[in-house]
Amino acid sequence: MSLVVPLRRAAERMASYHPPLEGRGGMLRLDFNENTVGPPPGVMRALAGLTPERIVSYPEYQAAEERLARYFGVHAENLIVTNGVDDGLRLIADGFAEAGEKALIVEPTYAMYRFYAELLGASVIALRYDDRLRFPLEEVVRVLRRSRPRILFVANPNNPTGSLLRPAELRRILDAARHTMVIVDEAYTDFSGGSVTGWISRRPNLIVVRTFSKAAGMAGLRIGCLLAGAEVAGALRRIHSPYAVNSAALAAALAVVRHPAPVRRYAREVVAARRELERALRRMGVIVYPSAANFLLVDFGPRAPEIVAGLRRRGILLRDRSSDFGRIGWVRITVGPRAHLRTLLRAMEELWKPGRS
Ligand SMILES: *Cc1c(COP(=O)(O)O)cnc(C)c1O
Repeated sequence: MSLVVPLRRAAERMASYHPPLEGRGGMLRLDFNENTVGPPPGVMRALAGLTPERIVSYPEYQAAEERLARYFGVHAENLIVTNGVDDGLRLIADGFAEAGEKALIVEPTYAMYRFYAELLGASVIALRYDDRLRFPLEEVVRVLRRSRPRILFVANPNNPTGSLLRPAELRRILDAARHTMVIVDEAYTDFSGGSVTGWISRRPNLIVVRTFSKAAGMAGLRIGCLLAGAEVAGALRRIHSPYAVNSAALAAALAVVRHPAPVRRYAREVVAARRELERALRRMGVIVYPSAANFLLVDFGPRAPEIVAGLRRRGILLRDRSSDFGRIGWVRITVGPRAHLRTLLRAMEELWKPGRS
């Protein structure tokens, strides 16, 4: 079927994006790196406390932005609230991607970087982690200098590898990115610690991205933030939909930053559980990659599809990432608290014995 009006050329070329599986309700969802317990209690109270007046009115942002900025250690002029990070990534692509210009990514990484860059017509230069999942720093620096891409997206820690760039490596990238906006996506920083948010005042080519979808347990509410120098933030604010973020998400995010202790506790518990899961899987002979986030990337080898299907029948969802690597075997396991991990390990011990699924 041809459309009455054709899609923009870059949109026409897009492969269709396969959204997450539906029907995940009632399962142990270790497939999308969500919080597996629930949002902090303050979030539920904030939602229950929304007045009819708040619902009928368009959202007001100023006070909330000031409070969120304080939480992230920046000024309100440095912050843009977005409808999840995905909206923020699209905003960045809207601002800086251009037909005929380049965007740089290092794969495997978060799929939306390529998606929005291509949608906005940029040509994507995709470097690769090597087979030991090391970041190709020298190559990135070379491409930044030689090809002058408009945008570089990096997730730190990266999804799905779990790997973390050190501050010195990020400095090297930012120094080389003389003509490039560098987006450092810190979706998992609650689990890794560390942030380069403090650098935005000195680095006019840096945009830091934070989300409430992961540690804070609010993936269903859709809210995140971009943090950047005042000039970049101001330019992006000019082209952002004025009411992209709804009042419920805003109230919930404020509840999180007013009482951050539950999120910190959750992150600590997940890190302890991740260590335990890593040890247990290694004891079983599974190859596990070191991770700084709330998930582990493992290599189940040729049995990966069978293991993933077997766990699914037992009500546990994992994410098969084999397609990222061009070889069957790679699976990403979201880590929740230790109670959830024991459920997973009991099922794994049954399945991992050869010949049983
Ligand atoms: C999950 C994830 C996000 C998603 O953020 P939303 O705020 O839910 O849109 C962003 N970046 C990375 C690297 C992620 O893994």
